[in-house]
Amino acid sequence: MGRWSKEISLLLFLLVPALSLGAFFGHFSFFLLLVTSYLLIRQTLYVDELEKWLSRGAYGDKNQHKGIWRDIYYHVLKIRKIDKKRKKKLTRMIDRFRTSTDALPDAAVVLGSFGEIDWTNKAAREVLGLKKSDKGYRIDNLVRNPLFILFLKSNDYAQKISIPSPVNENMILQISIVPYGANLRLLLAQDITHLKNIERMRTDFVVNVSHELRTPLTVIKGYLETLQGMENLPPVYFRSFQNMSTQALRMQALIDDLLLLARLETKAKKSDCVNITELLKQICRESDLLETNERRVELTLETDVRLRGDEEELRSGFTNLLVNALKYSPADKPVKVRWYKSEGSNANLEVEDFGEGISSTDIPRITERFYRAEVKRNRKINGTGLGLAIVKHVLVRHEAKLEIESQLGRGSRFRCVFPLSRQCL
Ligand code: ADP
Repeated sequence: MGRWSKEISLLLFLLVPALSLGAFFGHFSFFLLLVTSYLLIRQTLYVDELEKWLSRGAYGDKNQHKGIWRDIYYHVLKIRKIDKKRKKKLTRMIDRFRTSTDALPDAAVVLGSFGEIDWTNKAAREVLGLKKSDKGYRIDNLVRNPLFILFLKSNDYAQKISIPSPVNENMILQISIVPYGANLRLLLAQDITHLKNIERMRTDFVVNVSHELRTPLTVIKGYLETLQGMENLPPVYFRSFQNMSTQALRMQALIDDLLLLARLETKAKKSDCVNITELLKQICRESDLLETNERRVELTLETDVRLRGDEEELRSGFTNLLVNALKYSPADKPVKVRWYKSEGSNANLEVEDFGEGISSTDIPRITERFYRAEVKRNRKINGTGLGLAIVKHVLVRHEAKLEIESQLGRGSRFRCVFPLSRQCL
């Protein structure tokens, strides 16, 4: 009430003489109107003054008023002070953020809904060749790598891509995009040249060692064949040579698989239109011929869709799946191969067997190099532990997924899922 005392006393100060004059002249309404008009004009002038003051940014001390108007000016000034403090704090925070992001070794770019650059850190300007003045320009007009442009437009940022830096083609950048907020995207670029070099050295090492092992192995195999062919060979020697031959063959298979994997890591990708029905017919016929109990493989072709990719790589991948199904299931059980399209327009290759199956703990690991669930079992089946690693690599190179369903004692189903983008239409 105290805040209004000035206004109330003014009202009383005007109302008492107005009412007395009204009584004296017999014109109450006239004098009341006079008082009301005065008060209205006075308040309007104060409001106008306040509006002008606010429009100037509420600068200058305007606190010469009294009563409720003094309070109004006081509150506005208080809010302005708090706001000023907040702004200072925010500026300090932004400065700190800028300094820390500029110190980041990874490049960071904030992109708007059309891919326009909103903000870049120091590393982004260095490794992506962007300038501060590029703000507002679309990044795909400045970083012209086709893979990068496709990735940006795809709106599927689950994967990362590797591209050479636009300012130094010897530098390899791994690009990832994180969508956030209202249509904003944070682009991160990490220099992975060092990692790529180590990876290349590893692949080169495997390729060189494998090549070097090939020649001595061929010589050993040759001698073993000669020795095994000798007449009157004591049984104990014969068995030893046979074991040595088996191990030499296993070593040969290992070297071949290692070389194939190294090739899959380094070879340029092909994009031919591969006739999958013909390929499957060939693979199934060849695998069936190797079986003692022929006609184990049951091929069902429900679609003739063809795939864009590398025929030899697909042949290796599919053959590995079929060979495994035959290897890890009894000779009297069928192996079903099915090529079909599913509802989501994916093309699927399914290889199903009714063998020993794989335990749920082994399933996530069997595509790792050299992982063999088999070694834990009693029955020993030959293998390199590289077959499914090859399958996985081939599928990744064809943007496909490997799905594995299995139950111990019942059998397994391996499904290769190829997206629509990989099908020749
Ligand atoms: P390997 O040369 O040992 O067959 P793979 O990489 O092809 O190597 O397979 C890895 C492991 O996965 C195998 O050792 C085996 O234990 C298991 N496996 C693969 N396919 C099947 C299958 N169809 N049924 C049961 N186990 C399988």
